[in-house]
Amino acid sequence: MRDAMEKAWSELVATARRSVTDGLVVGTSGNVSVRVGDLVLVTPTGVPYDRLGPVDAVAVDLDGRQVSGRLRPTSELPMHLAVYRGTGARAIVHTHAVHATAVSTLVDELPAIHYMAAAMGGRIRVAGYAPYGTDELAAQVLLALRDRSACLMRNHGTLVYGATLDQAYDRTAQLEWMCQVWLTARSVPGLTPALLSDAELDDAGGRLRGYGQPG
Ligand SMILES: [Zn+2]
Repeated sequence: MRDAMEKAWSELVATARRSVTDGLVVGTSGNVSVRVGDLVLVTPTGVPYDRLGPVDAVAVDLDGRQVSGRLRPTSELPMHLAVYRGTGARAIVHTHAVHATAVSTLVDELPAIHYMAAAMGGRIRVAGYAPYGTDELAAQVLLALRDRSACLMRNHGTLVYGATLDQAYDRTAQLEWMCQVWLTARSVPGLTPALLSDAELDDAGGRLRGYGQPG
């Protein structure tokens, strides 16, 4: 268990650092978590990711009780725990990525601009606004995640989960990219972007399930 926790922590720190170097997170504005058995490892609040080392691991149980680490967990902990309790998530990435956050202020759902939405369950919803760190925000996010592994959060950012940290991270990058594509297409004067139908998204979802290397 101890080895599993150490390995998961180093993967979590690498993922958090990558979110900064890839431009999805500015400073300490995002947070990352991963589930190990009945515990959740989570980034601490207010510590730059390049300063996090092996001794800084923060672990909580699914009720939010801190079981190891001297740093305080992220202020968005209630949201992470609600998603673990309410979905099959094994890893979660939350960002304030610029294009996704911009889209969260414009629409209730990201228009179906690209078939990669199907890889996250379909049209991406925007969770209703609530103050950061609250149970109310956690409830809004959980609602927007029904049958989805990703959502936008109104005037706030993104929440994406996966079976692994890599999957949650990759979906986050894809979501931010789709938001950028939609904003770019809709900003062309006099033209309106073509969108995919439900049938086209469903078809893409079926194909994506068979995508990748065999075995
Ligand atoms: Zn946030």
